Amino acid sequence: MEDKLIRGKVIADEIIAELREEVSSLKEKSGKVPGLAVVLIGEDPASQVYVNSKEKMANSLGYHSVKIVLPLDSSQEAVLAVVEELNNDPAIHGILVQSPPPPQIDEEQIILNINPQKDVDGFHPSNVGLVFTGAKDGFPPCTPWGCLELLKRSKVETKGKHAVIVGRSNIVGKPMASLMIQKGVDSTVTICHSRTADLGAEIRRADIVIAAVGIPEFITGDMVSEGTVVIDVGINRVDDETRPRGYRLCGDVDFESVAPKASLITPVPGGVGPMTIAMLMSNTLLAFKRIENIG
Ligand code: NDP
Repeated sequence: MEDKLIRGKVIADEIIAELREEVSSLKEKSGKVPGLAVVLIGEDPASQVYVNSKEKMANSLGYHSVKIVLPLDSSQEAVLAVVEELNNDPAIHGILVQSPPPPQIDEEQIILNINPQKDVDGFHPSNVGLVFTGAKDGFPPCTPWGCLELLKRSKVETKGKHAVIVGRSNIVGKPMASLMIQKGVDSTVTICHSRTADLGAEIRRADIVIAAVGIPEFITGDMVSEGTVVIDVGINRVDDETRPRGYRLCGDVDFESVAPKASLITPVPGGVGPMTIAMLMSNTLLAFKRIENIG
C-alpha cells in the first residue's frame, strides 16, 4: 500500500525548499521580499487554523507576512477599505480574504476589488479567464494547481488520459477541468456534479479521478476501476470518540475500499492539503516577481 501513496506533504516540502532558495537569491539581488496579506473576518476556528498556517509558512520562507483580523460584524465597506489599502501597499504582492466570510459580506464583490495582479488565490474573473485561455500571466487557483503539480511530480501520464472530476465549484472542480485540458497536460475531461445521472459509471471510465465533493468517504471502491490514479481533495471532519480531539479528518474518497484498486492515491491528511499552501506561496512569489519585474 505504501508504494501507492502520493505523499503530498513530501512534495509540498520539496516545493517549499525550492521557493526558499529562490526567495533568498532574489532578496540578495533586489533587497526586497514577497509580501502576503491574509484577511480574516471573524474568528471561525477552522478559518483561523488555515490563516495561521499560511502566515506561519510565509514567515518561514522569509516573506513579509501580514495578518489582518476584522471583527465578525464588519461591514462590506470596511472590508473593501482594507482591500483597497492592501492594493495600494507596495510591500504587499499577494492578498487573500479567507473564505467563507460572514453572511453580510458579498464575497464576489470583495474578489472583484482585489487587484488581479495581487490575486494569489486566483479567484478574480480576470485570472479565471487568463488561466482558462492558457495565457501565461494568470494565477491558477492554489488547490487545483496543487493537484496538477502532484500529478506532474508523481510522473503520472496525463496526455490523452481520461480525467473525471467530481465537483464543479469555482474554487476546485471548474478550474481543475480548465487546467487538465490545457495544452501540455492534454487530458480528456469529464466533470460530474450532483445531477450527474450515473456517477459510478463515469468514474469507472476514468484513468484519473479528482474528488472534490465535500461528502466524507463518498467515492467507494465499487465506483473505481483497477489502476485508477485517485486525487482526493476533500477535507472532512467526522466525529470519532476514539480520537483525543473527538473527530478525525477524512477525504471524499473511502480510502479503505478505493486504495486496493488504485494505482496511486493521495491520503487525507497529507495529500492535497499541504499542496494548497505551497502553491499559495508559489503564486505569491510569482506576483512579487511580476510586480517588481525581477527574477
Ligand atoms: P463545494 O461544496 O463548493 O462543491 C461540491 C461539489 O460537489 C458541487 O459541485 C456539487 O454539485 C458536487 N456534489 C455534491 N454532492 C454530489 C453528489 N452526490 N454527486 C456528485 N457530485 C456531488 O465544495 P468545494 O469544491 O469547495 O470543496 C470540495 C471538497 O474539497 C470539500 O471537502 C472541501 O473541504 C475540500 N477542499 C479542500 C481544499 C484543500 O486545500 N485540500 C481546498 C478547498 C476545498 P452541485 O454543483 O450540483 O451542487
